[in-house]
Amino acid sequence: MSASFRKLALIGIGLIGSSIALAARRHNLAETIAIATRKAETLEEARALDLGDIYTLDAAEAVKGADLVILCAPVGAYEQIMRTIAPALEPGAILSDVGSVKKHVVKVVTPYLPAGVTFIPGHPLAGTEHSGPSAGFAELFIGRWCVLTPAADVDPIQLEKLSAFWRAMGSQVEAMDAEHHDMVLAITSHIPHLVAYNIVGTVADLEADTKSEVIKFSASGFRDFTRIAASDPVMWRDVFLTNREAVLEMLGRFLEDLSVLQRAVRNGDGPALEALFTRTRAIRRSIISAGQETAAPDFGRPPQPAPAKPEEGAA
Ligand code: NAP
Repeated sequence: MSASFRKLALIGIGLIGSSIALAARRHNLAETIAIATRKAETLEEARALDLGDIYTLDAAEAVKGADLVILCAPVGAYEQIMRTIAPALEPGAILSDVGSVKKHVVKVVTPYLPAGVTFIPGHPLAGTEHSGPSAGFAELFIGRWCVLTPAADVDPIQLEKLSAFWRAMGSQVEAMDAEHHDMVLAITSHIPHLVAYNIVGTVADLEADTKSEVIKFSASGFRDFTRIAASDPVMWRDVFLTNREAVLEMLGRFLEDLSVLQRAVRNGDGPALEALFTRTRAIRRSIISAGQETAAPDFGRPPQPAPAKPEEGAA
């Protein structure tokens, strides 16, 4: 099935929206790309980067005549966006999104859905800690999963059309239930972010001299948490506001396991610690064999030369 659409409308043009725009254009997946966003300066940035063909601050204008509409804004903005675009959505169009939570998205989008529009929620499991239109790149989705959470009675032709679109951008596509998605993502993505925000927050509260030591010696582990904890604050606020149940369920298990580890450390239980660390190492190896990570040491980053010391008197 062809992955091509007549008009693709992207509502929100940050990291994910701009990456879709670039990949769709590279692979010729839409005749016209319309971009809508909230702020005039973001729209101008998108225009300067030549991400689309039509630029507007009116989301309803962008979706007029579009046969594929993808919401690429933080999930907290969806309801207000739906109120704006619902009357302008074309019968026959596919409406999708890229939000990191799915049950909440189904709940807020469905009541606004006009007859004849097929809603297929989506979530590309791809991203970086950067945000905004200039953060995007066409290769972002290559080799990454895109999870779709269609309703059981979805039109299979529309589902295949959207799946083909994501495959053409390099993704592998899997369909699952929205609730299952939220539980899986709570542990694979949301809890790791919460842990990273917490550990980096702990450092932020340390006294100044200890903090400077942490920054100096950060490559011994802390640095890798800071990358995750540098992710967009608004997007992540919305994730924790809208996937509360699944996050609390997984957080409960995480805290139980942390208590077991705490006891092993207190009791000097070497065999228990070694047994756990051996099991976790195996998980890392299976992620590498699944092609979701490189086996290169130091998370694939080549060693960088030390930055030159600034000249005496330089600013
Ligand atoms: P981002 O870089 O911060 O961009 C968000 C975009 O949404 C900006 O263009 C922002 O525009 C726009 N926006 C905000 N409120 C809006 C509104 N009311 N109407 C229209 N546009 C609005 O965020 P992102 O990383 O691309 O994330 C976008 C979505 O992708 C989120 O739902 C997130 O959960 C999901 N996601 C993110 C990642 C990741 O790693 N970052 C991965 C997978 C999925 P203005 O500047 O005009 O406000």
